Amino acid sequence: MAEADPPAMRWWGWGDPARPPAMPAHALEFLRETVGIAAQPRPPVALGAVHIAQPALTEQTAAALRGITGAEGVRDDHSERVVHAAGKGYPDLVALRAGQPEGAPDAVVRPAGHEQLRAVLVQCARSSVAVVPWGGGTSVVGGVAPLRGEHTAVVALDMSRMRDVLDLDRQSRTIAVQAGMRAIELERYLAGRGLTLGHYPQSYEYVSLGGCAASRSAGQASSGYGRIEQMVLGLRFAAPAGDIELQAMPASAAGPELRRLLVGSEGTLGVISELSLRVRAAPSKRIYEGVFFEDFSAGSETLRALVSNGGTITHHHAVGRDHAPWMEDEVGREGLGALRALKDELDPAGIMNPGKLMVDSPE
Ligand SMILES: Cc1cc2nc3c(=O)[nH]c(=O)nc-3n(C[C@H](O)[C@H](O)[C@H](O)COP(=O)(O)OP(=O)(O)OC[C@H]3O[C@@H](n4cnc5c(N)ncnc54)[C@H](O)[C@@H]3O)c2cc1C
Repeated sequence: MAEADPPAMRWWGWGDPARPPAMPAHALEFLRETVGIAAQPRPPVALGAVHIAQPALTEQTAAALRGITGAEGVRDDHSERVVHAAGKGYPDLVALRAGQPEGAPDAVVRPAGHEQLRAVLVQCARSSVAVVPWGGGTSVVGGVAPLRGEHTAVVALDMSRMRDVLDLDRQSRTIAVQAGMRAIELERYLAGRGLTLGHYPQSYEYVSLGGCAASRSAGQASSGYGRIEQMVLGLRFAAPAGDIELQAMPASAAGPELRRLLVGSEGTLGVISELSLRVRAAPSKRIYEGVFFEDFSAGSETLRALVSNGGTITHHHAVGRDHAPWMEDEVGREGLGALRALKDELDPAGIMNPGKLMVDSPE
């Protein structure tokens, strides 16, 4: 079973509110001299002072959603909506700290399992309500921005009630988990059994495994353990049009790899509800080393020499809202068309995460 609560996070920034950030005086002085930061930090407004519009979900739809998840699974109070108003990108945090987020979800919905999740999607499609899947909320590309597109309202679909281990197969070294489980929770569970997943994005303390898979994340140990897409062996996927279940298999030659299309779909096609992941024996020893360069250009030249295989609009932060205008440059018109056709099939009403990943290119 998952622990009672995932680690707490500052609503206006990063990290545990119980551990205030502290910067040594000489570092502050250095920043003042080099980038000219203000003499006094500007504190965030009080949570209660954050301005958001009145919730737009009709009482009828809210009641239908409560009928699926129970009353505790649907919240529309001010603080829940503010906490789910933005991810952790720089523009998100500037707007939040000023008390002026771009918008907020009309409600936060927490299904307690795959069947509830699927029923929520069906209800939202019926009521023309956009759905933004929400794992750890650490997106830095506007992936969890509460955009409603052409729909009447938007809900954040928070996966935090789906954080259990479903099965551990020690012999084949695979583990099945619910997608809302946090990476940190899984590593704790595995550590007690001499195993590890080995997925450590720098946002590790707060990310969910479903969010990692949906945004195809990479971590500091990925050159050894592989990126998340190399760890996902199977998955259960709920789309408004129906479910897709891909069994965990070491390999398959049955056509194009659907698993790879769903991993990285950023909540625009449906919701990853469960995952089968490949795990490894935990290392007997961990050694961390850093390398210092004289200056920025020496460091970047060294990295360039190491990584000399072309560019992309996003190496590991997904596409979200912020990079979406350049998606066509990355995959071409036909490539984007193929993705849109898949979306039309799985999400005919277009309720899943509108405005992300697949949008029209800028003129
Ligand atoms: C300080 C910091 C450091 C970071 N370092 C890294 C790094 O080293 N490597 C890296 O890759 N990224 C990094 N990121 C970006 C971010 O943490 C990753 O993209 C991470 O994988 C997101 O996981 P999450 O659970 O927070 O997802 P969220 O932010 O909740 O969601 C991300 C996207 O996936 C969708 N989504 C979430 N859950 C599901 C689901 N179950 N099914 C379908 N769609 C879903 C959301 O709608 C959204 O589009 C960093 C972010 C911060 C703030």
